[in-house]
Amino acid sequence: ENKDIATPTRTKQISQKYGLKMKKSLGQNFLIEPNIVSRIIEAANIQPSSGAIEIGPGIGALTEQLAKNADKVLAYEIDERFYRVLQDTLSTYDNVSVVQKDVLEADVASDMSDYFSEQQEVSVVANLPYYVTTPIIMGLLQEKLPLQSIVVMIQKEVADRIAAKPQTKSYGSLSIAAQFYAEAETVMHVPKTVFYPQPNVDSAVLKLTLRDEPAVDVISESFFFDLVKASFGERRKTLLNNLLRHFEMKGEREKLVSYISEAGIDPKRRGETLTLEEFATLSNVLYPLIV
Ligand code: SAM
Repeated sequence: ENKDIATPTRTKQISQKYGLKMKKSLGQNFLIEPNIVSRIIEAANIQPSSGAIEIGPGIGALTEQLAKNADKVLAYEIDERFYRVLQDTLSTYDNVSVVQKDVLEADVASDMSDYFSEQQEVSVVANLPYYVTTPIIMGLLQEKLPLQSIVVMIQKEVADRIAAKPQTKSYGSLSIAAQFYAEAETVMHVPKTVFYPQPNVDSAVLKLTLRDEPAVDVISESFFFDLVKASFGERRKTLLNNLLRHFEMKGEREKLVSYISEAGIDPKRRGETLTLEEFATLSNVLYPLIV
């Protein structure tokens, strides 16, 4: 019983003991490689004083190591079957609290202030269910939770998009949305063989280090994000054509050309060439003129 949960043997034992069939619809792919678990915890820089929030503890592969390394662990699990399993597999730890809830419906801010102390550094550390990766990550960022970092195993393509730089194929509105709130980096690529059952896609560990302030100053966040989305509307089109359509200004082409130029940006450029800073400048010039 002293062996790590994140091994093929223990995972099989626990599944048999509880008659568990993994649900694909809930993104249940469990970690069976202890080295990967350690590297995730290292990437999150978990210290004995740290707080950790896990989303989807499953049978406890990552939770166990968080419990060993952190001060306190708060975990959200949607599948009620695992609640009983975790009481068993994590019975030797008294610093884990499992909330039986869909994390998208939880009030994480209030749970955090109830559970962690005010000065505690808290990180989200998780092997996320792939079907809801983007809503979970963007939800955590947009709520402006007092988090140090978010270190998550996700689908490789999504990690690439979130961490992408301008002028690359993966760069888009998701890159800007995430990088507005956090510095993003891909920590490592992970083969399918470290999961049971194996997923169909390749995975990567993404690290988001939250900024104290958004990366850029914008007059209106909602206008900024709307503008960014519109600029990537059709990737092959120029900024000007995407924005003419989005703001319904087709009859006022010259006007929009002069507005964009006023921001120091060539209207013939494509959205994918603009940096976060350029989008912010453009947004602040256009906002008072268009809205
Ligand atoms: N942490 C475990 C591990 O690494 O072995 C399991 C990871 S598995 C990829 C994803 C987990 O998230 C599953 O336990 C699943 O039931 C849970 N889950 C799926 N959707 C969820 C949601 N909306 N809120 C909370 N947990 C969810």
